[in-house]
Parts: sequence; structure tokens; C-alpha cells
Amino acid sequence: MALKPLDIFKLLPKTNCKECGYPTCLAFSMQIAMGKEDLKKCPYVSDEAKKQLSAAAAPPIITISIGKGEEKVNIGGETVLFRHEKTFYNPTAIGVLIDDDMPDQRIEEYLQNTANLTYERVGLKLKANVIAIRDNKSGKFIDIVERAHKTSKALILMSHDISLLEKALGICKDVRPVLYAATKENFESLGKLAKSFSVPIAVKGKTIDEMEQVAGKLQGMGIEEIVLCPENTNISELFKNLILLRRKAIMKRVKECGYPVLAFLPDLKVENYIKEALNAAICIAKYASIVILSQLKGETLFPLLLERLNIFTDPQRPMATTEGIYEIGRPGPESPVLVTSNFSLTYFIISGEIENSRIPAYLLVQDTEGLSVLTAWAADKLNAETIAALIKKTKIEEKLGTKKLIIPGVLAQILGELEEELPDWKISLGPREAAYLPVFLKSLDSGQV
Ligand code: SF4
Repeated sequence: MALKPLDIFKLLPKTNCKECGYPTCLAFSMQIAMGKEDLKKCPYVSDEAKKQLSAAAAPPIITISIGKGEEKVNIGGETVLFRHEKTFYNPTAIGVLIDDDMPDQRIEEYLQNTANLTYERVGLKLKANVIAIRDNKSGKFIDIVERAHKTSKALILMSHDISLLEKALGICKDVRPVLYAATKENFESLGKLAKSFSVPIAVKGKTIDEMEQVAGKLQGMGIEEIVLCPENTNISELFKNLILLRRKAIMKRVKECGYPVLAFLPDLKVENYIKEALNAAICIAKYASIVILSQLKGETLFPLLLERLNIFTDPQRPMATTEGIYEIGRPGPESPVLVTSNFSLTYFIISGEIENSRIPAYLLVQDTEGLSVLTAWAADKLNAETIAALIKKTKIEEKLGTKKLIIPGVLAQILGELEEELPDWKISLGPREAAYLPVFLKSLDSGQV
């Protein structure tokens, strides 16, 4: 049972040292009670208190890792109902369903699309993550599992045949496939199989009560990794159940509901793919951990991936690029050095314009905590002193013969001070608009600036 804030407070050191980021131990204990904070943020909690608080401090929805290597994804692990309360952590995994009686050419196309449809946005690779394989008794299930396993993507193995699932697990257990699905009739045999291979198991049910009962029985067998799968034939029912499950997990701390949720969309048919994308968008917004589509097409996958990126970006932290030197177009000792902030959007616009100019250059990115150039300057995170310190820290001078530095046009006010900080550099003021960078760099290159 969840502890109350005062129960938690009694076990904290009560020194109000603020190291956890909260002004008082009481404020921190309230966040722990709501499942919004991690107990690890207080470095002074005693081992005894940790033991007592572990239940209250555990996330209300467990995290499960599926897939392997670069294709590994975490599902679940959420702590809030609304993104603005904190953040959502683990983006909805998007997947495709392969029926084993599909024509072989279509199966190959689905596998290829799952592996190849990737999009790059603000330095992140956006792609689908899951392949669900359904046994329709064609005899090709194992062959498809073998082929899908080569992608390292997370798999969902769907069959009523326990011995077939066991054979499939022998091939792909390293990607931690989800076994689909336990019901009140088969939970014992499927549960034993999931336990012996240490893989997650899905629980399906038409109602939340039904899923809770089966999840409770699996918990009784010592199974911890469960994925809930509401069996709903229309989107409004599915939508309602996704919200109810999240509310029960977060607000009421019902342990049987504290698991990631798998949404098989209603009307899962190839010809319904636009309607299906709309339904998937609803499930990504509210609160599916995995969404399975009938096929992956660029025109529907891309907007879903962008929606996912938007929802699962921390609203309190701007997207940021890592501080350091970025080489664009093989720069050499005579190439100029441009400096900018680490706000991802700024970085991508500036690096894109340098590429457009075809003039090789170094781009020096300062950690401004994701703030844009002017805001960072106003917050004292990008000024003559910080730029000089960054030049020293990155040792960029060791790569250069002539030291040419270009600062953003909006930072004219720091030019004089920067010249004092870096007396042996030739410092130029770049354009105010990034779009003029190619012309500026070409003029610099030809000696006109
Ligand atoms: S770090 Fe620990 S002791 Fe310090 S204020 Fe936070 S909860 Fe209290």
C-alpha cells in the first residue's frame, strides 16, 4: 500500500539541505508519495529507511526492456497522468502485425519497412520498434520469427500453441519477446513458459477487472514483467480503458494495473490504414506503451513518430545538443570556427547553413542548457568569458593555423570584450539571420569580409 507524505517524511533526515532539489524534506516526501520523484535524489536516506520506503518509492508503472542492442526500447515506467506535471519517460513503441499466412512477398516488405523506415529529427533517429507475429496455423511462424529476429527489434509472439512458442523462444529469447497472451484459461502454462525464459507476458481481457485478475494470478506465480492488453473492438472503448488503467496505476496505485499497456488497434486491416493512423495517434496521446499497426507506410508512420517525439519530450527541458567541436565538410587548419548555443534547433539550422555554403568549418557548440543564443546571452550562459573558456577547454586551437572566429550577429555587444579575451584571434560578427550564413562564409573565404 502507498505511504502517505508524512510517513515518508518521518523516515527522511529532516535537515532541509535542499540537495534533492526541493526546499524541504517535506516537499520532497510529497513528491515521493505522488510517485513523481526518485528516492535516490536524497543522498542521506539511511539503508533502513530505503528498505521501508522502497514500496512507496517504486514507480507506479514498472519499466520493461524489450528488443536488443540499438533496437532496445523501454516501455512503461511512467509516473504522472499529464506531461506538464513532470514528463513522460518512455516513448510508445510502434509496431506492425505480421500474420504467418500472409504472402511471402508481403512479409518481406513488412520486415524491410520495419528495418528501413527511419527519419532524422533534431539529431534523433525516429523509427518503428516492434514486430508482432501471429500464428494462423500456416506452418511459417518459426520461419518468420527467425527472419524478424535478425532485425533485433522487439517481438510479440502470438500463438495458442505453447510448444510452438517455446520453439520460437529458443530462437529469439535474447530480444526479450512478449508472449501473447495470458487469459484466465491459459495463464498457468503461459506463465510458466514466460518465467522459464525470463520474458514478459501479455495479459489480455475485455475488461479491466478481467486483466487485473489474471495479472494478480501471474504475480502470485512470481512473474514481474507483465504487459496489459485491453481487447476492445472500438476505439472509444479502448481509449476509455487506456485512461482508466493509467488512472488506477498512478492515482490508486493498483499493483495489478501498474504495467505497460499494449494497444492492438480495432479494425486492424490494411485497407483501413488512414483510420488506423488516427486511432494510433489517439493511443499514443493516451497512454499506450506499444501500438500495433496493420502495416508501416511512410505517410502514416512519419506523423505518428513526430507526434510521439512531441509528447515524450520533457516540457521543462529544451532539446539540447552536446557541447563540443563539430566538424562540417572536413575542415582544416585554415577553416573558420563558428560558435553557437546548444539549443538543438539552433544547432541544426546553423550546421545546415554551413553545409549549404560548402565551406568547411568548425562549429563550436557551447552548453547553454538548451537556451537559444540571445536567451543564453541574457542568462549569462553565452558571453565573451564562456566562449574563451570553451576554446581553451576544447583545445580547438591545436587544430588551427589561422584562428578565425565567427560569433552570431546578435552578439555584437560582446565583440570588444571577446577580442580582449582572445587577442590572437581574428573575430568577425556573423549575420543576424542564419539564412545569410552561406553568403557570409563565401565572402569570408574569398577575403571580402
Ligand atoms: S536531500 Fe534529503 S535531507 Fe536534503 S532536503 Fe532533500 S530530502 Fe531532505
